[in-house]
Amino acid sequence: MKAAIYVRVSTQEQFKEGFSVPAQLERLKAFCQSQGWEVYKEYVEEGESAKDLNRTKLKQLLKDVKKGNFDIVLVYRLDRLTRSVMDLYELLRTFDEHKVAFRSATEVYDTSTAMGKLFLTLVAALAQWERENLGERVKFGMHQMIDEGKKPGGHSAYGYDFDNNFNCKIIEHEAAIVQHIFRWYCDGFGYRGIANRLNILLQSDKKYKPRLADEWNHNSIRDILMNDIYIGTYRWGEKVLENSHPALISVSLFKKAQKIMGERLKDRSRIGNFPLTGLLKCGNCNEYRMQGSFDKRDGKTYYRCLSCNKQTHDKNLLDAIINEINLLITSKDYFISKVSKQFEEKETINMPKIQKELEKVKTQRQKWYDIFMDDDNPIPKEELYDRINKLNEKEAELQEVLNEADIVDDESIEDKYARLSKLTNFRRHFEQADDFRKKELLFSLFEKIVMYREKGKFKPITLDYYLK
Ligand SMILES: [Zn+2]
Repeated sequence: MKAAIYVRVSTQEQFKEGFSVPAQLERLKAFCQSQGWEVYKEYVEEGESAKDLNRTKLKQLLKDVKKGNFDIVLVYRLDRLTRSVMDLYELLRTFDEHKVAFRSATEVYDTSTAMGKLFLTLVAALAQWERENLGERVKFGMHQMIDEGKKPGGHSAYGYDFDNNFNCKIIEHEAAIVQHIFRWYCDGFGYRGIANRLNILLQSDKKYKPRLADEWNHNSIRDILMNDIYIGTYRWGEKVLENSHPALISVSLFKKAQKIMGERLKDRSRIGNFPLTGLLKCGNCNEYRMQGSFDKRDGKTYYRCLSCNKQTHDKNLLDAIINEINLLITSKDYFISKVSKQFEEKETINMPKIQKELEKVKTQRQKWYDIFMDDDNPIPKEELYDRINKLNEKEAELQEVLNEADIVDDESIEDKYARLSKLTNFRRHFEQADDFRKKELLFSLFEKIVMYREKGKFKPITLDYYLK
């Protein structure tokens, strides 16, 4: 009998005692000798994974199997050949077709015997089972829950529509609101501020209504912000299924919101109310976030860059900002010069390039969907969901940039100015308002404010900003 010896070690295994190539070879050659077999050839695969069949030496081995160059394939252990039942089945079938037996030196598999034939049948059945169940694994958990008598709740989460089989439909206009809620929150708005904004929208269009109540309130906003269903996680009692359905927001945005929530809980009374937190960026640090804090020692509020730690007294900042707003309100020419600069900058950044990127994302996602639909695909469904969700995330980001560009185009400079010029006596209004109202006023005017300050205590502050 002629035997082919197949040896494989992964990169990690190469350093393991007893699992090295020489160790395996020595053992296998001794085995051949004990059986009185002639070693036809050694196929040594180094640093390749057992996951796919696209291995150089394995391919060569299969070629030689088909040529009938030897009678038996010998491995040290079955998992040297493959870890997938389906792949194993394919391999064993090919061996069998060409009357080549298969044997493991350390295990009981031996396809040259009657027991070995049974093994082959078992592997085939297992492979069949695995193929049928691979795609069902995600839903399996859910159906199990149904079997246990836990029916889905009375209604799906806002933004989604789940049927009793857990098929998920996205309700587009609700999904858009969910996305806004997360973005506004990360921009520095509190639950109350977000609810107010939505209720204002609601007055003009009923489609902004929450599902159960007539109006939004801080509880409904908080519930949405805390619900990880929006990143594709399905929770049911103690069971958690990740990537069970398409996400509405990115994981990074969700994490950011949770982090802010944690920070605000620590200092519920103040952090959320600093008017400039969320709006103000440090111009010296590539527009890093600046956060307000109250200094008990001097009773003053400061904004600190979270990157360079430089602090600026809020009075200096607010004075500069109010002066700027007054200039914008009183001089249309000044306003136009500022806003047209903003228009130009926005247009030079993106459009065609982002459109192209968006197309690319869509094409790639279609590819994953095709693989998803293909019963023979070897990639687990969870992983495909994950990849698709990542592309959805990317799409949302790109779409956001496009939307923002659109929003600027929507309102003419004239309209913008008309809106702004209604704010008469701004300084007085502003100074009389509480912190929450101040924050709302500033956020309604600015997209962001970037602060520049040279080193030195009395150096003036310069501002750069984007108007809404
Ligand atoms: Zn800084």
